[in-house]
Amino acid sequence: MNLVFMGLPGAGKGTQAEHVVERFDIPHISTGDMFRAAIKEETPLGKEAKSYMDQGGLVPDEVTIGIVKERLAKDDCKHGFLLDGFPRTVAQAEALEDILAESDRKIDHVVYIDVARDVLLARLTGRRICKNCGATYHVEFNPPKEEGVCDRCGGELYQREDDNEETVANRLDVNMQKQQSLLDFYSDRGYLRKVNGQQDIDQVTDDISKLVRGQL
Ligand code: AMP
Repeated sequence: MNLVFMGLPGAGKGTQAEHVVERFDIPHISTGDMFRAAIKEETPLGKEAKSYMDQGGLVPDEVTIGIVKERLAKDDCKHGFLLDGFPRTVAQAEALEDILAESDRKIDHVVYIDVARDVLLARLTGRRICKNCGATYHVEFNPPKEEGVCDRCGGELYQREDDNEETVANRLDVNMQKQQSLLDFYSDRGYLRKVNGQQDIDQVTDDISKLVRGQL
């Protein structure tokens, strides 16, 4: 099962990806994770990626396409994969089709986790992080037992500077604009499947599983 996951920040893409790869026993390929690992290991790729990521920009297509091509050639992708964070541009989407066609593969579904903008705003601005251990909470959806205090280590919780309403709204709008051409691309090809992301986490996973199995 060859899957691409799409969704705006806060839609729950990462969480759902973790659940779905477990259910279908396919590798989770996140370009963001790959770049972060390369940065940690201080590889040449990591050094290049860091300069773009630090500025909040995209890593150039040729670099990103190169690492995805290498990853998709590995044995564990033979029976499927879940791509997360890639493609992010139409050029990457076209390159992905070419890469897959070279080995007689294609995308089965592009799963879009659909969550309304105002819900995303509430989710993202309510996030609180522990200064000490990095655990994340949400003031409404996942509150700590004691306000402002980490359940795990007792550390102080804070709101990330870029989680304020204005910055979050701006981040969402930029993402929505950028992703539209990609949604149109996959919709035109008949790959796009929308899932209601405003349900319980497990219900969203069930819906995705059903559509992947052709039951929805
Ligand atoms: P993510 O964890 O998916 O939000 O990715 C973190 C950062 O990695 C992004 O802000 C980009 O700088 C870079 N990145 C991840 N995936 C891609 C991609 N498909 N194309 C270009 N840059 C990417």
